[in-house]
Formats: sequence, C-alpha cells, structure tokens
Amino acid sequence: MIYTDTRDSNVKVDFKTAVMGGMNSKTGGLYIPVSFPKLDKAFLEKDPAPSFRDIAFNMAKPYAEGEIPDDDLNAIIQDAYPFNPKIVPLDNNSYVLELFHGPTCAFKDFGARFMARAMSYFNRSESTPLHILVATSGDTGSAVGSAFHGVPGLDVTILYPDGKISPLQEKQLSTFTGNVRALKVNGTFDDCQKLVKTAFVDDELRGKLRLSSANSINIARLLPQSFYYMFAALSVKNRLAMDTKNKEQSVVVVVPSGNFGNLTSGLIAREMGAPIDGFVAATNSNRTIPDWIATGDYNARPSVETYANAMDVGAPSNYERIKAMYSLEEVRHLFASYWLDNEGITKAISECYKNTGYIIDPHGAIGYKAWDDIKKGALKDLVNGSKNDYTKPGLTPNVPDWANKVIDNTASGIILETASPAKFGSIVTDAIGRQPPMPARLEEVLRLPDNAIPMENDYEEFKKWLLANL
Ligand SMILES: *Cc1c(COP(=O)(O)O)cnc(C)c1O
Repeated sequence: MIYTDTRDSNVKVDFKTAVMGGMNSKTGGLYIPVSFPKLDKAFLEKDPAPSFRDIAFNMAKPYAEGEIPDDDLNAIIQDAYPFNPKIVPLDNNSYVLELFHGPTCAFKDFGARFMARAMSYFNRSESTPLHILVATSGDTGSAVGSAFHGVPGLDVTILYPDGKISPLQEKQLSTFTGNVRALKVNGTFDDCQKLVKTAFVDDELRGKLRLSSANSINIARLLPQSFYYMFAALSVKNRLAMDTKNKEQSVVVVVPSGNFGNLTSGLIAREMGAPIDGFVAATNSNRTIPDWIATGDYNARPSVETYANAMDVGAPSNYERIKAMYSLEEVRHLFASYWLDNEGITKAISECYKNTGYIIDPHGAIGYKAWDDIKKGALKDLVNGSKNDYTKPGLTPNVPDWANKVIDNTASGIILETASPAKFGSIVTDAIGRQPPMPARLEEVLRLPDNAIPMENDYEEFKKWLLANL
C-alpha cells in the first residue's frame, strides 16, 4: 500500500515509513492510505460472521502488502489480540460494543498492541533504539506503555497533564519500569501534545535521536481500530433479523470521541465494506467537531476538563484525516453529531443503569444518551423542522441520510463502550449509588510504586531532559 499525506498529496511513502515516522515531519501532515480496498463480498457475507482475528488479518493484509509477509502478519495479529471485543445487547435495537477487555481496560489496547508489534517488526534490523514519544489525556499512555513494555529495541516516554487524569489512570501510567517512563507535565493535554509535536519538527533533536509517535496520529494505531467496527457490524447484522424480527435493518455506530481517531477508524471500516449506514459523533463539552458540523467553521480551542476526560481535546488531530476523506457536506450526510455536558454525563450513567441494568463509563454514557435521545425522537424533530441550538447539549441541526431509518424503526445502534467503568469508579459510583466491579488487572496496578518524573511545560527543558536521559 502507498500512503500519502493530509497536507501534500504528492507525498508517497510505504507502510514502514508511515508507521516508523508517525507523521510527516516535513509537512506536519498525517499519513493516510491512498485507497481503502473493499473486502471480498463472500467474506463479508459469511454466516456466521468471521472471528475477530480472521477479520483483523484480512483487513490488515492490504495495508502491509509486500512489506510484512502473511505468516508474520498473522503472528502479529495473534500476539496482539489474545482478547476479543464483546457485543452486549441493551434492548432489541441497541447494542454495546465493549472494547475494554485488553490489558489496560480501554479501547486503545487494540491500536497500541498492533502498532507496537508492527514497529518492532520494522525495527528488527536496526542497531539503535527507536524512541516513542506519546502525549496522553488518560488512556493512550497506559495502552502504549503496556503494549511496548519489554519490547526490545524500542522505548517509550509518556507525557500526561499532572492532576488532570483520574488517580487510577495515573497509577496505570506512572508505575511502568524499564523501557517505559512517564513525565507528569505542569499543563494541559494540549500542552503535552504540543511538546511532542515540537520535538518531532526539531531537526537538531531528530539528528540525535530516532523519534516516533504513538498517538492516534500514527496510522498503525488507526487501521487496527477499524477491525472491531467490521466485526461488530457483521456480527450485529447477522443477528438483527432475529433480534428485531425485521429483515431490512441498518446499523449506526455511536462513537464517544475526543481526538477522533476512533471515529476515523470507523470511516475506514465503512470504506472497506462494513455494513454501517452512519455514525453518531458524540463529544463532551469539547465540541469543536459538533460546532464545525453545525456551522461549517472549524475552530480549534483550548480543551476544557470534563468527567469523560479521555475526550478532553479541543484541537482533534484527526479532523485533518476526516477532511482529507470527505467534504463537510458528506460528513453532514453521514454523521449525526451530539454533545453533552458534565451534568448530562452523570444523568446518562444513572439512566442507563436504571433503564437497562448496564453499568456504563462516562465516555460510553455520552454515546448511550445520544442514541437514547435519537430513538426517542430527537432526529424526528429535526426532520420535522425543529432548529436545534448547537450551543446547547444535544444534536447539531444537520439531518443525516439515515434519519428516516431511525424514524421507521429499522435502524439499530451500536454504542462503543471505550473504557471499563471501573476506571472512573467515583464518577460512576456517584451516579448509580454502587461501585462498578473492579477487574483484577486494575487492582494489581494500584499496589505498584509511582515512578513519574515532574516536568515543566517548557520545550527547552523537555528537550534537555530527552537528550540527557534517552
Ligand atoms: C481515547 C479515548 C476516547 C476518545 O477516542 P479518540 O480516538 O481520541 O476520539 C474515548 N474514550 C476513552 C475511554 C478513551 O480512552
């Protein structure tokens, strides 16, 4: 596969260059495949639907063609995914896709584990280490740290905003040893991301260290996230006729979004033939994308803190990829977009529990509420001419092409549950009056000592530290 760049379509690189470089340091653009090959019809129509790892291998294959032989690619897939995404029905036309059954209990394990193994594969004949820099607003760092821990030839430096992530998330980041270390930065997530982005365009630094990124800007994080969209869409499609007693069912995927990597992966899956009619882009009060969809003006802004803190992103990187793939009009036809404030998040967790018995985390809760509002008539109101105020929580005023399917009751929703509710225990407990169950692998991390290194929000200081310590 050839990869081009969101800022310069003359750029043409191979998979290795895209994966190892993370982003194009010359243009500042993000890599994107020149095409999204469709899976065979016979594969897509298998009944029962293929297994997750089967889908993963078949979807990864065209992107690594000619660079990673099938046997090695298959080994990467098998080693990356000893766990599965899990589909849980909430009612007869709503499903939750649980993406938190990996080691760090959030969906980012899917992308990080594939990326770590692809990088390790491409780095196998190098004599110097590759240094991964990663800025995190919560779950990225732990997923990346865990995915790379102990991998030879690679090391990882994680930057996170001090005091702005949950105590458990912080434990997951600060307790690594060996080839993975964490810097707690006196600033916001956007500050952390800026330090990393500045390092990548610093020629002097790059002359001394081999650097790469691990944020959702890396195409090797994005491509594997498309696997579970395909898996979910095919599996749900297969059972829909039975669940709903209705043949012509379409599928809408509701995606709690921050940096919009996850949603971009959904777009890739759809391009490759996943039977997905559309998406709901669900955000917290960081509503840069809903505002863009509502007004046509894209205004990146500083992030604000919310209960769904892994989505506290004011300048979503993958906006660039979405824009490279679709026009604003196409986005408005494909997406409903929805946002919710903190008060709404707490209410949504509580309503979800009361109505369905399901304990949902603050990120997934926004998705739950978006789909619940849509089912209860929010889209119908738009179709009937109501003019939503996009500055208030709820849907933005655009009417996606699939709106009538919801109104006719022939659309089912798959809500992505991006993290285990146990990672946000106090918010969830406040909302539902009981503690969510704690997975054993999270309990273990609470007992480990904290090794995070304090860092000022100052590029020169950060650079000095890198040169002295890597
Ligand atoms: C990272 C994250 C998100 C946002 O995903 P993006 O790809 O940045 O849009 C949502 N929920 C959780 C729990 C996350 O960790």
